[in-house]
Amino acid sequence: MTTLLVKDIRHLVTMDAARREISDGALFIRDGVIEAVGALAEMPEAAASADDTINLPNHIVMPGLVNTHHHMFQSLTRVVAQNELLFGWLRALYPLWRGLDGDAIHVSAKLAMAELMLSGCTTSSDHLYLYPNGAQLDDEIRAAIEIGMRFHAARGAMSVGETDGGLPPDDLVENEEAILRDTRRVIETYHDAKRGAMIRIVVAPCSPFTVSQNLMRESAALARSYKVRLHTHLAETADDVAYSLEKFGLLPGDYARSLDWVGQDVWHAHCVCLNEREISLFGRTGTGVCHCPSSNLRLASGIAPIRRMLDFRVPVGLGVDGSASNDSGHLLGEARMAMLLQRAMGDPLGMTAREALELATLGGAAVLGRDDIGALAPGMMADFIAFRVDTLAFAGAGNDLVAALVLCAPQTVDYSVINGRVTVRYGVLQTTELRPLIERHNTISRRLIRGEHV
Ligand code: ZN
Repeated sequence: MTTLLVKDIRHLVTMDAARREISDGALFIRDGVIEAVGALAEMPEAAASADDTINLPNHIVMPGLVNTHHHMFQSLTRVVAQNELLFGWLRALYPLWRGLDGDAIHVSAKLAMAELMLSGCTTSSDHLYLYPNGAQLDDEIRAAIEIGMRFHAARGAMSVGETDGGLPPDDLVENEEAILRDTRRVIETYHDAKRGAMIRIVVAPCSPFTVSQNLMRESAALARSYKVRLHTHLAETADDVAYSLEKFGLLPGDYARSLDWVGQDVWHAHCVCLNEREISLFGRTGTGVCHCPSSNLRLASGIAPIRRMLDFRVPVGLGVDGSASNDSGHLLGEARMAMLLQRAMGDPLGMTAREALELATLGGAAVLGRDDIGALAPGMMADFIAFRVDTLAFAGAGNDLVAALVLCAPQTVDYSVINGRVTVRYGVLQTTELRPLIERHNTISRRLIRGEHV
């Protein structure tokens, strides 16, 4: 049994039921689980018995951020097709992604996780939807275990190639029986349903324009038989909606409902183009949404109606989206962008800084179906981050350090603790050496950009 005391915290943001913010706060952790939160004087026995102590007098501490949509392999192909809409961007990138293999998936996932962890994420999902040259979901799960990140691996898939009216090249799609068989395999091998799980599996056909209705239905049935969650892309762009109307005769929200893809165990990425009725459907059914503001702007997709979704009680989390359409992996930056975008139509209350932080923590946890992360309270997992406030980003913002987390755009955490383990200390990743990882990643990237296969 190991215990950790974090004390003298200048400002502690709990995101607990009362949304307490505590000055001169403390946390006591036993075996990766938070046992006490509050003033140090309230936990004298804990303070005396701690195996390890961290003092944070110049820090703001908050729950670790939760990233609910990513394609980590895209870190290898950043800044490609810079001025394209979604479909043109995908057509430019598919040929490069043919060169991926298991090593590329492993290295790029680890690099993307390092980037996320250093900027405040403690939990991430990743949506891996192509498996060339023997690549497997296992390759990125291994990366998460090695680097110490809490991870929801989404077994994506594409099954409808160009010949059958889909978007991807025929040689990048998989056989549907093989997809379902491999999805079952990864669930049975890795999925941990228990509280505090470090690895969970998600069933995640890629999008309406890359898989069949049959695969969507079969996937929903399979996920429910194992009680795992469902994830896909939905209503990302006007082209996406046009494809849905032309091919299925339905708006994306109606298409999702027709396939049993609504409910509390489902979350959809983007949802830029949902109308009021579809938003209401998602609210009534508890269907989650992952908002990826930078990606939506980068690809000129539009602004997702997040204010309306929140008003309709749609569960909303944030995502950085793939590294090739963002092209950064900074979730706190997404919280800032989300806040700014909901104000862009003239409403200064479109989203507050604290609402944006709530989406990045509790919102993400809800979308991933977790009640053990996203807040700092007794019984929650010890996933938290600390930013130094005696830094340039926070200079002059001492009157509201919490709002400054969003408004002032701090870049790097000083500490990150995941499941009670210190993974970043003094701004340095403790679990992986960055320099060789970046070098290895860039070697693979150069090969892919040259269009070389393995
Ligand atoms: Zn995506």
